Amino acid sequence: MNTLKAVRGTRDLLPPETELWHHVEATARRVFARYNFGEIRTPIFEDTLLFARGVGEETDIVSKEMYTFTPADDVGREARGQDRGRAASDKAQSLTLRPENTAGVVRAYIEHKLGETGLLQKLYYMGPQFRRERPQKGRYRQFFQIGAEVIGPPSAGSESPLRDAEVLEMLASFLDELGVTGWRLAINSVGSAADRPRYLAALREALAAVAGSLCGDCQHRAHTNPLRVLDCKVPADQPVIDALPKIADYLDDASRAHFAAVCAALDRCGVRYELNARLVRGIDYYTRTTFEFTHDAGLGTQNALLGGGRYDGLSEMLGGPRAPGIGFAIGADRLVLTLQSQAGGAAAPSKADVFLAPVGEAQNPAALVLARELRRSGLRVELGDGSFRVKKSFELADKLARRIVLLGEDEVASGMLTVKNFATGEQQKVVRGELATALSGA
Ligand code: AMP
Repeated sequence: MNTLKAVRGTRDLLPPETELWHHVEATARRVFARYNFGEIRTPIFEDTLLFARGVGEETDIVSKEMYTFTPADDVGREARGQDRGRAASDKAQSLTLRPENTAGVVRAYIEHKLGETGLLQKLYYMGPQFRRERPQKGRYRQFFQIGAEVIGPPSAGSESPLRDAEVLEMLASFLDELGVTGWRLAINSVGSAADRPRYLAALREALAAVAGSLCGDCQHRAHTNPLRVLDCKVPADQPVIDALPKIADYLDDASRAHFAAVCAALDRCGVRYELNARLVRGIDYYTRTTFEFTHDAGLGTQNALLGGGRYDGLSEMLGGPRAPGIGFAIGADRLVLTLQSQAGGAAAPSKADVFLAPVGEAQNPAALVLARELRRSGLRVELGDGSFRVKKSFELADKLARRIVLLGEDEVASGMLTVKNFATGEQQKVVRGELATALSGA
């Protein structure tokens, strides 16, 4: 029989790599809390319409990459008799595994009437997202994002360029605090909903003249979603695309002033960035500021660590009140790959504070009691087994822990224990009542 494997594009994350994930997640929680963000958790699947409307029918994500369970799947379930007891409304609904989290957060903002608080909502999330992309290093079909959104009524200041600058400054601080060196920030403005049609008209006109010389994908995009042509990575297309009209030349005064204010605030707090006129990003909801942080070490072609932008019209696209906002999503898988490559490979497993080795099976219960006491005082304890020979206990302890304590009949009776430290080779006699303190140092 063939052994079962994780599905293509998905993977298992095992210790010690998961320690690095915890470190990334804990740093994000700590840094975001300083900017007064709170955590939101939205469902992993949503009504398909949310993404069709929010992300956009013509985007790659919606048109090619979603994992959708259509009502047609239910016909098969019904035939197999797996549908008993399901409500008719359930059967009619098309559901999709979330390919991104901004649409879900904005849906929740609308559903819970968060706009009525009159306050700016600052929400962060972390969790898996699903896209049926061609898997490669740094690109998976189940991947993890850590993201945040700042959204609220205009009266709460949600349109202010200060919010854009604050979010970008937070991301720079987050990457610095994690120890990611050599990241680069690119920013652009894609204009407001009013600027866009003027630019799109100019772009379509320019594309009509040159599309024939572009790659097949771009020829298609020139009709369906001309902005996406700017994302093309095919080398031969680059000179033609570079010569297309620039969105910066089509911004109205308000959009131009907004972008200038974002740049000025970044300059003021010393966050370095590059302007990239082609940074439009692949999702329909973006308006005004768009940005991307990249890193070249260890990621190959998938060098975007995180991306985001402003989405002033998204709430209204989803039937909600006017609620401008800005947000980002960090590719946590890529961040971990970057940290691993900076550290020169996979991390070594970290070790327990102590290996407790009962000598003889009769000491197992006493060892369990002592392990319980030490663990309750916060120590990380690996518990051996009295059926092991002392030599085997030492070998195991050396692999798994920084110290060993043997617990034989004499030690249990006298309460006098010997701690051996593997790094220094030192041995120390300690009374049982002081063991936890003796083990808590380095
Ligand atoms: P997006 O939601 O497309 O704006 O992507 C935001 C970030 O998520 C990207 O910069 C990547 O770091 C990460 N990302 C997007 N798609 C994938 C994927 N298929 N696998 C791994 N990371 C991804």
